[in-house]
Amino acid sequence: MTQGGCLCGAVRFEVRAFSSGVFKCHCSKCRKAFGGASSAAVLAAQDDFSWTRGESAIGEYRASPGFLRRFCPACGSILPQHLADFNSYWIPAGLLEGDPGLALWQHIHVDSRASWEVLDAHTPARPAGFDS
Ligand SMILES: [Zn+2]
Ligand SMILES: [Zn+2]
Repeated sequence: MTQGGCLCGAVRFEVRAFSSGVFKCHCSKCRKAFGGASSAAVLAAQDDFSWTRGESAIGEYRASPGFLRRFCPACGSILPQHLADFNSYWIPAGLLEGDPGLALWQHIHVDSRASWEVLDAHTPARPAGFDS
């Protein structure tokens, strides 16, 4: 079981198993939402994910029909999101605590990356989404 939560601890969750490795998305929206070179996230089947504290307080912002970001209203940490179409949760990897046993899996949307970003040489890098 992997525990995770936001910076202030108001929102907490746990994950029994992951269904992907860590993927970093370099699209312009993820860069804005995370304030960094990319997002870093992992997937879990919805049955393997549970909120343990603060779910009712979660705020959300929809940048476009396909781009929703949920956040802790107290500390601003970006939070996991249910992907109903995939029966999965999208989980920001930086929220996870301890060693979740994950490895970096893919870079996606690298054609949109920041001009100053340098990618590592050995991780698969997709020009756009996972299937590109
Ligand atoms: Zn918080
Ligand atoms: Zn993105």
